[in-house]
Amino acid sequence: MAAGVELGFAAAPAPGEAWRLRSAHFPSKVGGRPAWLGEAGLPGPAALRCGRCAQPCALLLQLYAPLPGRADAFHRSLFVFACRGAACYGPPGPRGPLHVFRNQLPRSNDTYPEEPPPREPSPDSAAAATAPPRRLRSGAALCRVCGCLGPRVCGRCRCAAYCGPEHQALDWRRGHRRACGQPGATDDSDAVPDHNEFLFPELEILIEPEEPESPADGSVDPDDKEAAVDTSENSDKQEELKATGSASEALESLDEETLEALAKHESEDDKIFQKFKERIAAEPEQIIRYCRGGEGPIWVSSENIPEEKDIPNCSCGAKRIFEFQIMPQLLNHLKVDSLGESIDWGTLVVYTCANNCNEGNQYTEEFIWKQDFSAGSMQLPPCY
Ligand SMILES: [Zn+2]
Ligand SMILES: [Zn+2]
Ligand SMILES: [Zn+2]
Ligand SMILES: [Zn+2]
Repeated sequence: MAAGVELGFAAAPAPGEAWRLRSAHFPSKVGGRPAWLGEAGLPGPAALRCGRCAQPCALLLQLYAPLPGRADAFHRSLFVFACRGAACYGPPGPRGPLHVFRNQLPRSNDTYPEEPPPREPSPDSAAAATAPPRRLRSGAALCRVCGCLGPRVCGRCRCAAYCGPEHQALDWRRGHRRACGQPGATDDSDAVPDHNEFLFPELEILIEPEEPESPADGSVDPDDKEAAVDTSENSDKQEELKATGSASEALESLDEETLEALAKHESEDDKIFQKFKERIAAEPEQIIRYCRGGEGPIWVSSENIPEEKDIPNCSCGAKRIFEFQIMPQLLNHLKVDSLGESIDWGTLVVYTCANNCNEGNQYTEEFIWKQDFSAGSMQLPPCY
């Protein structure tokens, strides 16, 4: 990918075009089952369980992000998995309900031809688009629900494969109960249900470079401009304070120092959130910002920004660097809204090995950090 920031947008694949989201076409996509890249060293069921509730995680998205100039990363994909349990998204910070894995392959490999994939569906890929893959080419079985490794088989038919007891139970309820053990039935004749209650909706991710910001108006010194904005913000704040007469009584119990610290913190938070909004204003639909090792993430709040010590080194010993961030706009595509709690974040930031290490083309776990909106940036009334 290029040096500047690249933006990702979610789009439903055109009718009959779902084949583009399968492994042979090296997709970037949201939801559905993983379109695995390499077939060696896939993360097992234990590695894909939520760090909070221990339930299996679903594919949130995958990005095709090869590294030009690295022969061993001619193909390279990143896979983000997320827990479906809203309660697991409470605390901000590292990992928790989220996992990210990196995988790469050289141009010459056992799984894919060296030529770029055809722009038309092959008979194989057209069929694969309608039925989820039951197994890898290597023969390893995939879970009928989540599409991850399925080492567990149904004890009755010895055919249907699952990552664990939860998905076996889910598939049983959703129809395997009726198909299981039918005389003459094969694994392939037992159609897999959608499992949309577990999988996130499947959408293509389209990548476009971010347009450089329009140069500042030549007549105004950018510093002056910022100072002017600051002053007006402050006077707004003072107006607000004056206006809230009833609140002032509640504030009396707080000493001046505390109040000043609160106000300062709030205005820092406002500034960061303001910057966030300005930066995404030109392309408000963006769900991904990608810039490996380049311009860092844009934060939604001054709280819970990781320091260097918060980002652990890769297992190879190298530092991890920023690669991409997932924006809150993705939530609009996930159909997770409910009246009560739902899956939520301000931004999710992915850090990957600076050396892009590679041990036998295995999947390597990388690091993800969740930052939430602060109460202030949500325009909720401040709670004193
Ligand atoms: Zn969970
Ligand atoms: Zn599963
Ligand atoms: Zn069965
Ligand atoms: Zn490494």
